Amino acid sequence: PQTPLFDFLEVSARRYPDQPGIIYYGREITYTEFWDSCQRLAGVLADMGVKKGDRVAVYMQNCPHFSISYLGGMRANGVVVPLNPMLVDNELRILLTDCEPKAVITTTELYPRLKGICDELGINNIIVGALSDYVPEDPDIPVPDFISQVPSSIEGTINWLDALKDAPAPPPVEVGPEDLCLLPYTAGSTGVPKGCMHTHKSVTSNVMGSIYWANGSPSMVALAALPFFHVTGMIHSFLAPIANGGISVYLTRWDRTAALDAIEKYKINMWANITTMLVDMLAAPDINERDISSLSFVGGGGAPLPAALGEKFNKMTGLQFAEGYGMTETISQTHWNPPDNPKLGSVGIPVFGVDSRIVDVITLKELPIGEQGEIVVNGPQVLKGYWNKPDATAEAFTEIDGKQFLRTGDIGRMDEDGYFYIMDRVKRMINAAGFKVWPADVESTLYRHPAVLEACVIGIPDDERVETVKAIIVLNKDSVGKVTEKDIIAWSKEQMSAYKYPRFVEFVESLPKSGAGKILWRQLQEEERERLK
Ligand code: ATP
Ligand code: MG
Repeated sequence: PQTPLFDFLEVSARRYPDQPGIIYYGREITYTEFWDSCQRLAGVLADMGVKKGDRVAVYMQNCPHFSISYLGGMRANGVVVPLNPMLVDNELRILLTDCEPKAVITTTELYPRLKGICDELGINNIIVGALSDYVPEDPDIPVPDFISQVPSSIEGTINWLDALKDAPAPPPVEVGPEDLCLLPYTAGSTGVPKGCMHTHKSVTSNVMGSIYWANGSPSMVALAALPFFHVTGMIHSFLAPIANGGISVYLTRWDRTAALDAIEKYKINMWANITTMLVDMLAAPDINERDISSLSFVGGGGAPLPAALGEKFNKMTGLQFAEGYGMTETISQTHWNPPDNPKLGSVGIPVFGVDSRIVDVITLKELPIGEQGEIVVNGPQVLKGYWNKPDATAEAFTEIDGKQFLRTGDIGRMDEDGYFYIMDRVKRMINAAGFKVWPADVESTLYRHPAVLEACVIGIPDDERVETVKAIIVLNKDSVGKVTEKDIIAWSKEQMSAYKYPRFVEFVESLPKSGAGKILWRQLQEEERERLK
């Protein structure tokens, strides 16, 4: 990777000028228009004073504006900060205070959440687009209300379409492979979100890795439903299709009917997703009548894939789910199952260029094959460090054989064939009377119960056992009222060792999820502890 990331788009615009790079609710945006818009936006940003290294915050859902802002922000020599569109108030204030953006780009329905904070922090350069900007007048697929009913512009802000129309020429390119280009924040599952400093080179290496692994080609048609602000969606649904010269069909909000419609209409062959999306799609009442035979590569990561779900998916489609593993710090994958040789329950092998080991959590000494410890990684996709957090950066790395390895904070093991298995996060461990219980392990068993649609396991304080195991469960529609909490506990007792089966079970209608679709276990645990006080 010797060039800035946006070269992927420039090259595709030269190779496939008339091919649609983006399809947005029926509107086709060709590679020529896509690249032209990025250069225009770069001109606008440079005109506002954005210089090399300045941050440009992008706060929006999946839409053409996101992709143009991301690559246009980098083309302006800036560092793009993708912000989770579900963040509000103080969460947003913390991140914007930390990254100090020179400009912010958002959409009309999200702008009200930003306005006060931007005033407070003195951020004046705000460009606002409308989701409806790219919807055709006479769309051939239904456009959801949340797109057609948003305000088309907001007074007192810089309007997206107007700005692009009158844009000055873009500034000269002043960035190279080693320069910062992206500052994505971790999800905050274990503490305060941290900004991860990524370069054109670190991001490019995982885009190329995605193409290599999934046999990418210009015939790729991707379903881009996974949010782009988060690393899995960003690499596999947004950037890899561009680098392939393929087509990406955007969904602004997850909606399984819209996703199934898109798969049928556009003959989608590539779908990167997260467990919670797969659970939802496979539970669609009409799933057996749908034609999803065009799919040829389906995979994902970001959260554990319960083996029972992978089996169900395989039975329904004949496809192997290619589970991978990675983090914001590594801009998506460091491990991935080889599509032709996957092992269910494993996150696969280290991808090209990655050296990964298992070390003792306390001594940080490397452990022999098969033993459980913390996963550490070295590779071109590893971050340069955390933004404004030198202490966290220093703690995150450890040296082995003269090389710097990133501590992932995840517990796992490696088998004889070099496949890795994730147990859980170090911080999620439940201490049940001295026994280590890994919630992801218990959840994976619970997913085998036919009545269980989703499960989240937490540790709650217990006078005798230090902590004890509780499962919060969403039942399948058909099982509501038929299966009781006691049934689940009795079943679990037969399936799991005495120290780990859930002593408490609670049924809920839904589980809280992050913008990236991960179940918010820490929130559930804190709420429960608060209640027990
Ligand atoms: P924070 O670092 O702020 O606590 P976070 O770790 O949730 O937030 P991300 O970078 O989005 O933020 O998530 C990376 C984490 O997701 C990994 O460290 C791991 O715990 C989990 N993860 C990713 N892929 C998988 C997978 N295939 N199986 C299990 N867990 C996974
Ligand atoms: Mg993390």
